Amino acid sequence: MPVVTRLGVLSAFIFVVSATLLAQTSSTTDNAPALMPGFDRQVMDTTADPCVDFFQYSCGNFSKLHPIPNDRPGFGTGTMVAEYTEHVLHEMLDSTAGGGADRSPNEQKIGDYYAACMDTDAINQRGLKSLQPELDRIAALKSKNELPGLLGHFQLIGVNAFLSFGEQQDFKDARKQIAVVDQGGLGLPERDYYLRTGTADVKLREQYVQHITNMLKLMGASESQAAKDAQAIMQLETALARVSLDVTSQRDPNKIYHMSSLDELSKLAPSFDWSRFLAAGGAPPVTELNITHKEFFQGLNAVLDSTDLPTIQAYLRWQLIHSIPGWALPKALDDEAFDFNGRKLSGQPEQRARWKRCSEATDAALGEAVGQVYVAREFPTSSKAATIQMVHDIEAAMDQDLDTLDWMSPETKVRAREKLHAIADKIGYPERWRDYSTLTVARDDAFGNALRATEFEARRQLAKIGKPVDRGEWGMSPATVNAYYNPSMNDINFPAAILQPPFYDKNAPDSVNYGHIGGVVGHELTHGFDDEGRQFDASGNLSDWWTAEDAKKFEQKTDCEVKEYGNFVVVDNVHINGKLTLGENTADNGGLRLAYLAFLADAKRKSIDVNQKQDGFTPLQQFFLAHGQSWCGSARPESMRLQAQTDPHSFRKYRVNGVVQNMPEFGQAFGCKVGQPMMPENACRVW
Ligand SMILES: [Zn+2]
Repeated sequence: MPVVTRLGVLSAFIFVVSATLLAQTSSTTDNAPALMPGFDRQVMDTTADPCVDFFQYSCGNFSKLHPIPNDRPGFGTGTMVAEYTEHVLHEMLDSTAGGGADRSPNEQKIGDYYAACMDTDAINQRGLKSLQPELDRIAALKSKNELPGLLGHFQLIGVNAFLSFGEQQDFKDARKQIAVVDQGGLGLPERDYYLRTGTADVKLREQYVQHITNMLKLMGASESQAAKDAQAIMQLETALARVSLDVTSQRDPNKIYHMSSLDELSKLAPSFDWSRFLAAGGAPPVTELNITHKEFFQGLNAVLDSTDLPTIQAYLRWQLIHSIPGWALPKALDDEAFDFNGRKLSGQPEQRARWKRCSEATDAALGEAVGQVYVAREFPTSSKAATIQMVHDIEAAMDQDLDTLDWMSPETKVRAREKLHAIADKIGYPERWRDYSTLTVARDDAFGNALRATEFEARRQLAKIGKPVDRGEWGMSPATVNAYYNPSMNDINFPAAILQPPFYDKNAPDSVNYGHIGGVVGHELTHGFDDEGRQFDASGNLSDWWTAEDAKKFEQKTDCEVKEYGNFVVVDNVHINGKLTLGENTADNGGLRLAYLAFLADAKRKSIDVNQKQDGFTPLQQFFLAHGQSWCGSARPESMRLQAQTDPHSFRKYRVNGVVQNMPEFGQAFGCKVGQPMMPENACRVW
């Protein structure tokens, strides 16, 4: 199950590694890491000057104490909580994997899914036999006319060859669920990987072609045939990349929303039988759908016309193998997939332990069955109650803060407030659990389980088309260490697993919890009002509720952030992409400010002097230190490059320094002077 929707409209809190990148093995079980406390003095570098580099001051010793493990592309505060959660899941899954007649239906499913994934002997013995029915379908293609039927079937099992098809809430009528066709068909992370010049990119493309060659060989092709096919596949994907939108443009809802008739799609790409494709893809009959980016489908038509059938078949074999999670493949293919996706693309030296991969895979396939057991064991009602209180405090802070904004007109403020009050708060886990009863999980068939789980989820999504929206639905599993805002639902969501230390620590003072989880809550809330979220109204519809003058002022304010972050260098000569990260940066800045205001209000209620030192730091300093420590950690250069080029989140160091340098309140709390790096004369402020 993808963590984000196909269109990626969910705004998450943390960098989400895509499923293909989580393709990793090894064997030893290591001990669960301890969770960091809300405020950890050990990770600080007190020799650094907080006014010069606050990230270094808050987290300078973190990477000495917690170096990046060999099975990770990077490691930090969030990863530590994720590792801890993986250990919890491992214990849980291990005990249900033992079998036994007393297991509940959900326990049977998660236990057997995990057990099948762990059974590498069975996976290796089967070899490519599991794949054969799909390979036969490709080989059986007699002409390009038969392609739509096969591609429809492939969509159901997660192979997005040539394009993507799915379901979404209608941007302009959030009550409706509609079909959507989107660009797709690439094997590299996004379009610019095919087109960018520069030594690092050229080298990666060569490695990619070699990787395709190796995979095709492992599937039985001769050396010369595999090499020839790989070149042709690269050409085909490059042609698709040329007509695709880049990651930055995909954040603009108006660029990815074009409600159209089915006839129009047929006019854009007449060489492809769309009705046949939709029927084979399991879609209910539709007459209209969202064509995200029309130029892509014109380009797709040209690619289909100009490519011969044998090349298309080679491309399909590649896309098929590329889409299957490595853990379900025989060892040689799994290793080769890791070598490219893990080692070359992310700089990760070693595959992850098998049990980690299988815990993750089980959560990805059966997230709410795993989550039900996880929540009962790990999520006390006190954590839920404390989070609800925090969310209400922060929503109240935003309500009050709107009054103080000098750049927004009273008219737009009324609409902003309307939207704020309509936001649904979802904490921990769904009220109604997903029903997996029709999904078959076999204890001896890892590959089949992976395919069936993917198809189960695809059909669940497609079944929504034409039905009323379920506002209780979640886009992340409870065991996920992350959070998100969904503009179409207008809801903020905090899975149970992020509500543990250091993000929420019941033993930490309020100052620390407001700095950590308060910042997360403020971040998601602010997403409703960032450059993307602000275009959706209280009901979740893409509709402009701003006066022209206010919209112009908003853009001027955000331009300041685009420039500020665009100046930050991540690795080598790679800068942060200020436009790609604008929404996340706005959410980081607005979020911490809201948490700060809520904290001050709370301290006032409790008559706490926020400037009175306790154990060496004032509560205000502790608030900012907790925020800094939300982002401790480091990453390998390859992974930093990947993040800067594909991910809307800024690199961790700048999620700390970029924010505090925009808050004069920070400089005051640490006695900085105007003109020092963390207290510049011209700070940016949107919210
Ligand atoms: Zn976010």
